[in-house]
Amino acid sequence: MPQKVICSKCGYILYEGMELKTPDEILQQYEERCPKCGRKLSIRPVKILIDRSTEQKGVSKKG
Ligand SMILES: [Zn+2]
Repeated sequence: MPQKVICSKCGYILYEGMELKTPDEILQQYEERCPKCGRKLSIRPVKILIDRSTEQKGVSKKG
């Protein structure tokens, strides 16, 4: 199955091919910007920040 990386804003195909590339590699080719709409590219998953000040201590989950 070919890899396909598309700009989430304008749909521009940033990369399409059978060769698997890392998101970083593809982003660097475009200097982290979509050549069509100029949007700053980010393929990395969204980070979820945990506010440690509200984190409860002593909570343990199984699994
Ligand atoms: Zn774009």
